[in-house]
Amino acid sequence: AGTAPADDDDTAAAAAADEYHAEAMDAKATLQDERKTLPVYKLKDDLLKAIDEHKVLIVVGETGSGKTTQIPQYLHEVGYTAGGRKKVACTQPRRVAAMSVAARVAEEMGVKLGHEVGYSIRFEDCTSEKTVIKYMTDGMLLREFLGEPDLGSYSVVVVDEAHERTLATDILFGLVKDIARLRPDMKLLISSATLNADKFSDFFDAAPVFRIPGRRFEVGIHYTVAPEADYIDAAVVTVLQLHVTEPPGGGDILLFLTGQEEIETVEEILRHRLRVLGGKVAELVICPIYANLPAELQAKIFEPAPAGARKVVLATNIAETSLTIDGIKYVVDPGFCKVKSYNPRTGMESLLVAPVSRASAEQRAGRSGRTGPGECFRLYTEYNFVSDLDDDAVPEIQRSNLASVVLALKALGINDLVGFDFMDPPPAESLLRALEELFALGALNSRGELTKTGRRMAEFPLDPMLSKAIVASERYGCSEEVITIAAMLSAGNAVFYRPRDKRVHADAARRAFHAGNAGDHVALLNVYNAWAESGYSPQWCRESFVQHRTMRRARDVRDQLGALLERVEIAPCSSAGGGDLDAVRKAVTAGYFRHAARLQRDGSYRAVKSRQTVFVHPSSGVAQAPPRWALYHELVLTTKEYMRQVTELKPEWLVEIAPHYYERKDVDEPEPKKTAAATTPQEQTTAGSTPTKQTPNLNSFF
Ligand code: ADP
Ligand code: MG
Repeated sequence: AGTAPADDDDTAAAAAADEYHAEAMDAKATLQDERKTLPVYKLKDDLLKAIDEHKVLIVVGETGSGKTTQIPQYLHEVGYTAGGRKKVACTQPRRVAAMSVAARVAEEMGVKLGHEVGYSIRFEDCTSEKTVIKYMTDGMLLREFLGEPDLGSYSVVVVDEAHERTLATDILFGLVKDIARLRPDMKLLISSATLNADKFSDFFDAAPVFRIPGRRFEVGIHYTVAPEADYIDAAVVTVLQLHVTEPPGGGDILLFLTGQEEIETVEEILRHRLRVLGGKVAELVICPIYANLPAELQAKIFEPAPAGARKVVLATNIAETSLTIDGIKYVVDPGFCKVKSYNPRTGMESLLVAPVSRASAEQRAGRSGRTGPGECFRLYTEYNFVSDLDDDAVPEIQRSNLASVVLALKALGINDLVGFDFMDPPPAESLLRALEELFALGALNSRGELTKTGRRMAEFPLDPMLSKAIVASERYGCSEEVITIAAMLSAGNAVFYRPRDKRVHADAARRAFHAGNAGDHVALLNVYNAWAESGYSPQWCRESFVQHRTMRRARDVRDQLGALLERVEIAPCSSAGGGDLDAVRKAVTAGYFRHAARLQRDGSYRAVKSRQTVFVHPSSGVAQAPPRWALYHELVLTTKEYMRQVTELKPEWLVEIAPHYYERKDVDEPEPKKTAAATTPQEQTTAGSTPTKQTPNLNSFF
């Protein structure tokens, strides 16, 4: 290096290239060395032998032992990919994990991401003809069954992170078990971080369990003496105390939070307090990681902090087992996570912040003891840990709305849902609800069979209500508008932004999209169309206080929805071009009629069928002038039940569009005051379970 003659540009360039190449080779050599230090490496031959001998194998090993990144590579190396003719699939419950792990494996193999190694997540397919190792979300593999019911292009399916027991993973269990029986050439690996693998083994016909002995150093556990009133504040204080009092360069900190908003709040507080402390303390590098973090920033969490600095990773429970960050010595665990909960009686699904399970708490603590002794600070009392936490989290299938998976199963020709091979069956009530919902949407007929509408709906990787709105757009002549709205709704909640110093401008810009108080759905449509008219300009986004990143994603999603429209043979057609926004709103209503609510005298709303009291979210464009009848996209529970994305509705549409669901009396005005006043809370809740008008014969559904 540095010896190239300065007078010869070519030679210098060649030398620089050589040097670059040498460096790249060095990096590759180091990566290869690193691979060999992973616990799974020592067992490589035994593992491959076990896979060869058994059809189904349960693989259990401590997080970070190399299961996810190494096993697919081993399988590729010994020929399971048949020289490019077959693929190895590896499922992940989370999008970020699928992307991040694929990037790492591509790097280890020295190939470009998307070539031999790729990933597939909803609305983002980073694979090619060359791809032999494919990381994907469990939901995407589930969708692949629709196109290829025997998964014939895969020689091995690895269902990874099985202990997470996500809804899609649980459904996959039943499906892959079935095809593994049918396909003698296929191997199935179920990989998990928890040690009680017996349940998996039992389910898969007593499949053998292959254990990868973990290396885990001693972890000191610390509890608070009294419960913390404000865990965010307690977390910030703990992180700063650790940073200031522990020797610099002596290890990084991992703080578990419940979601993006919380992570952003903590990031802001930390930055502020560090500014106040000024040069008195060493540098603290803050690395957030959550599902919607842009890919460019995801890689940052794996970069070591500069010399003398410390890194603090602010993560959701993605860092519990899915991603392993080297160098963590301190874990701060407030003991909460976001969990989905579902009330089959009201049909309401919500995300709630809840205490973690003991199994999760143990996993979190373990993250600090991977490369040396660690410390875990639990921001709750030992008594809490022992007496209040559940042993394990409840599988998602038992606390979810099942409409989406039931539709997928029906589309796969699986009609006997009760007879489906569930590891833990969902509550019968949830199944019934899902069938009712799909019947109301016209996806199933009264015998529980998939209709043509249902078949078309199943093609879209969306919630059935949104799929229905798209399918219905054909009838209302507005497929162009409805896929735009669907894309905007799917691209994320962050469409607008509101910088602190420009609130007035931002609010004015935002109001402009709400001209005519046409509702939030139409406003989203307006935003997209204006952006498209600007030539998809980032400059336009800045001027309009619209997030360019969200818009780009919406455009990708829209392109894919457009392709799916073609697949289900719905012609592109536009009504709003001719100014008919009612057509657009009717199509949305065809999907979301169950989300109709009526304004009350006190300014709140009451859901027409469930009789639940709900409110317009302050961010909604209709918040200033609430319509008498409204339709919402979703409910979010913060301080109250808020409707997010609200649009005005004409009550007669409900009877016109969903005559099997609404009767005249549901929407006749004025609302009979007497009943309203006389409704006791008891009645209000039970009213939620009122069967649909035309109750299908549910027995025949099974
Ligand atoms: P397991 O699946 O058993 O939990 P992994 O295969 O995920 O283990 O991890 C093996 C190693 O690879 C860990 O040391 C981890 O830090 C590293 N690793 C995984 N993903 C990345 C990444 N995106 N960047 C850097 N290192 C990574
Ligand atoms: Mg893993």
